[in-house]
Parts: sequence; structure tokens; C-alpha cells
Amino acid sequence: MAKETTRREFIKMASIAASMTTIGCMSSKFVNNLAEEGKNPSDYPVVVIGSGMGGLASAVYLSKAGFPVTVIEQHNVPGGYATAFKRGDFNFDVSLHFFDLPEDIYQELGLEGKVERIPLDLKRRLIRKDNDITIPKLSPEQLITALIERYPNEKDGIRSYFEFCFAVVDELTRFGKKMETGSVFLPSMPLQYPKMWSLRNISLSDLMNKYIKDSMVIKSLNYGVCGIYGLPPSQLSGLMGAASTGIMVKSQFYYFKSRSQDLSNGLASVIKDNKGTLIYGKAVNKILTDNNRVTGVQIDDGKVYPAKIVVSNANAPDTFGKFLSDNKKAQKHMEKLAQYKPSISSFLIWLGLKGEFHGKDSEQSIYIDSGYDIETDFENYLACNAEKSPISIALYDNYYKGYSRPGTSTLTIMILSGYEPWRRFEKDYFAGNKEEYNREKMRIAQTLIKRVEEKAIPGLSSMIQVMEAATPLTNITYTKNPEGAIYGYPPNTKNAYMNRVKNFTPIDGLYLSSGWGYNPGSYYGGIMNGRDVCRLVMKDI
Ligand SMILES: Cc1cc2nc3c(=O)[nH]c(=O)nc-3n(C[C@H](O)[C@H](O)[C@H](O)COP(=O)(O)OP(=O)(O)OC[C@H]3O[C@@H](n4cnc5c(N)ncnc54)[C@H](O)[C@@H]3O)c2cc1C
Repeated sequence: MAKETTRREFIKMASIAASMTTIGCMSSKFVNNLAEEGKNPSDYPVVVIGSGMGGLASAVYLSKAGFPVTVIEQHNVPGGYATAFKRGDFNFDVSLHFFDLPEDIYQELGLEGKVERIPLDLKRRLIRKDNDITIPKLSPEQLITALIERYPNEKDGIRSYFEFCFAVVDELTRFGKKMETGSVFLPSMPLQYPKMWSLRNISLSDLMNKYIKDSMVIKSLNYGVCGIYGLPPSQLSGLMGAASTGIMVKSQFYYFKSRSQDLSNGLASVIKDNKGTLIYGKAVNKILTDNNRVTGVQIDDGKVYPAKIVVSNANAPDTFGKFLSDNKKAQKHMEKLAQYKPSISSFLIWLGLKGEFHGKDSEQSIYIDSGYDIETDFENYLACNAEKSPISIALYDNYYKGYSRPGTSTLTIMILSGYEPWRRFEKDYFAGNKEEYNREKMRIAQTLIKRVEEKAIPGLSSMIQVMEAATPLTNITYTKNPEGAIYGYPPNTKNAYMNRVKNFTPIDGLYLSSGWGYNPGSYYGGIMNGRDVCRLVMKDI
């Protein structure tokens, strides 16, 4: 029951409600609850550990809602993987190829006027043993028709499969809206969301096998999926696979001008506009608790930052295993999480080229297929097999005019990589002895460059002015993600959907907001985690 309010309390409540209605993530139910209870977000200091996408998004939403937010980042720039770095005349993007950021979320984050979105057509060149084609941007219907022309025997299956995926996206959108208003009635899920329900414990392979027989068609339809969550269809959750297929085909994708670093800087600037603070070059090593409720965090030099809410964008094993090593509930939770393994990592080469290179048909990316099936590709990725893994090349100069300085070009060559091939270098690498490691890194880089030169870009090596490469060990250095994971916990059938790790935790006042939380790693997933954490905090305080 609402308690009686004084005039002062009323004004306070009204201003809280007003600040909250400016953020779209807040359902009126939570806003009203807080206002009715006379609670003021400014009484709840928040510390966010880490400034990757999930950390920045949480800080934006919470600071916009009036919480006093401090972000503590161990690196000297914001962004986690969403950063850029300079070498010679070149400014290299660490990770971003593309992502979908719907208009309402872009506005909600306050990015309008701060960061320019570049819509991409994702025109891509696909090089296979038997063909080398450039695929322009296609509408969903054009794509289905083109696939049916190429694989007429699978005509009905292809159409039905895509229609199913689109319907899953529609159901998810409806479900998401209901979640935000707190009006999901779980027992009625099978009736209200039958497609989602049918995917609750099956893999993408299980789903695809219902529609399609030919394994090469399955591979074609999975173009990109192994590269999005780093899992082959046999392991990828059916729900995540169907949803990402539907989204890939239907959504508009973007890049950020001039690099993903500008997106991260833009989010950091929104946090500052909302009176939040960002601290760089400091690593959190402890989350402080009293009676299982967070009271603050401690950084490496011993300084303590008091907080009533702590949001961890750092990986889950560090959050529970290290920062809370003396908390029994955290240890128990970590025992449960130990069944999930970190996602795959990446091997990436950045090339600064002399000459203005735009590819064969001004494509934005090139994909060199391996000729193997997708499950074998995954095994090759795990082994970081440079001779056999499929290769993705991003031609950034076709993203927007002026990406590189006149007379030069910028591209990246990427394969996914497991951690095992790099584990043997771990000790020496972190002790600063990198000779053997560097030799292996160069061997892999040169093998990949040679393959790209032979298959896709003749004369590539003679154009190289600047080259840099990163392995899973580099990823650990800059983000502290175990095994250099790029997607946090991957959304396999054991850790997705209803069984997915949640953003709330057994520690009161502690939330996760990273690929190790509810939405697996991606730019958009990070933003959705931030949004979800804000909703949870509003509900819990
Ligand atoms: C090569 C590559 C290409 C990719 N391409 C795309 C793409 O095109 N589209 C897409 O959507 N996704 C892509 N991804 C995936 C995407 O970049 C990541 O999944 C996403 O950015 C991860 O965000 P996150 O919120 O989990 O945080 P992370 O980026 O993992 O950041 C975590 C942050 O926490 C900080 N931190 C950790 N521990 C501490 C501590 N103790 N104290 C203080 N700070 C700490 C780290 O320094 C880091 O800044 C790519 C990734 C890579 C590596």
C-alpha cells in the first residue's frame, strides 16, 4: 500500500519519476514502485567494474536514471574489445565488423549527435572451391529466392526454415516487451510463444535437420553463424541460432565513424553528461560485502570505492572466483558456472596497405571458404589451423569514404582460434619471454596472408606498410577475459534461453553485465545486458 507522502516527498518522487521516464528501459511499474516507496536512485552509489560494451551500457542507463555511477577500467581507454589503436599512419579497429543498433536504442543511449552511425550494405565476396561470387545486399525475399535457385532440391525447406526464423524473431521481440513491463506469465509460454518454446532445449542442427538435408546447404545458411557466437550448429542453442539467422537477414547493420572507439568514447561521454565518473588504468581486485550484500570494491592500490550496487563487466570467473574469493555463496555459484567453458577466441591481423584498395567489386568483406563442412571448420578453428580454417577479411575502406588516409588502405584478416594451441606459451608470455610465441604468431600470420594473397588479393604482401597481429593471449592482456574468449560464455544448448546464466547473482546488489551474463558477447548483447541490469536494479532496490 502506498504510504502517505509529505509535499517534499511528493516533489522528490515526481522528479525521480520524471528522470526515469526519460529512459525507455524503465517500465512504469518500476518507476511507480520507486516513487511510491519514496526511494531515490541518488542514494544508491553504483560501481561498474570494466568499461566494455556491457559496462558502458549499464553505466549509461543507470546514470541516466539518477544513480551516482563510477566506472573503473583497468585499461587506459574505454571499450574493452570495442577500442582502436594507432600504428604509424593507421588507426586500427580492434573488433567491430558490424552490428545492429535499432533507432530507439541509439536514441535511448543518447548517442544522437555524439557518434555517427554508418549503415552498411554488407556486400560480400564469397570465395569457394567452385565459385567466386559477390553477393550484394539482398532483401529477405531476394535472399530466399537466390538460395532456392542455387539449391532447387531444398526449395520448400529453405523457405520454411527462414519463415520459422523470422517468426522466432517476432516472438522474441514480443516476449522482450512483456519482460520489460514485468508481465510475462511463464506457465503460458508454450501457448503464447510456441516457436521459442519448441527451441528450448534443441541445437541449431536439430532445428535445421527438420528442414534441410544437404550439409552444404546447411553450411550456406550458416554463413556467419559460426563467426557470430563461435559455435557450430551442433552446439549452438536452436533459439540463438534461429534468432541470429532471422536478425542477420532482416536487420540493418552499422559501423561507427570513425572507429568502434568513438562509440565507446560516445557512451563514456553520455555517462559524464549524467554526472558519472570514469576511472582508467585501475584494476578492481575485490568486491567488498557485509552480510552477503555488496558494500564497495577495492582496487589494486588498496583504495576502496563504497557502493550499494556493483555491476561487473569483468568476466564471471574473476568476479566470483577472485573478487569474492572469501564469500561462500559466490564460491558455490562459481562451482555451478565451472560447468560452462569460455567461448572461442580469435587470431587477428591488422594490415595498413599502401595504395587505395577497394577489392574486386567494392565488397565490404571477403570470406574464403575452407571446402570443409561447418563442424570440421570448427575443429580447425579450435586448433588455430591457419592452413585450413575459413578466413574473414574486412575491407574497411568500403565502409565509408576516407576511412584511411589518402593513398592507403586498412583491412583485417581474421580466423577464430581456440586457446589450447596458445596455452603452452602462457607462462613465458606473461613473464615477458615472447620469442617462441612471436615465432608462432608470425608463422600463422604469414600463412594466412599467403592464402589471402593466393585466393583473394593478388599482390597483397607487396602492399603491406604496417602489420600487427593479436592472439588469444593478446585478448587476455587487454580485457582479462579467460582464454581470450570473445563471446563470454557461448550460448550452447546447456547455457542458453531459460537455462542461461542470469545477470542477477546470489550476492545482494551484485549484477553481471558482459558476455558472461545473460546476453552472450556481441556489441548489441552488451547493450542489452546494460539495459537488463538497469531494469533489475530498479526492481531490486
Ligand atoms: C576480433 C573480434 C571481432 C569481433 N567482431 C564483432 C562484430 O563485428 N560485432 C559484434 O557485435 N561483436 C564482435 N565481437 C565481439 C564483441 O566485441 C564482444 O563480445 C563484446 O565487445 C564484449 O563486450 P563485454 O561487455 O562482454 O566486455 P569486454 O569487451 O570483454 O570488456 C570487459 C572490460 O572489463 C575490463 N576489466 C576486466 N577485469 C577488470 C578489472 N579487474 N578491473 C577493471 N576493469 C576490468 C576490461 O579491461 C575490459 O575493458 C568481436 C570480438 C573480437 C575480439
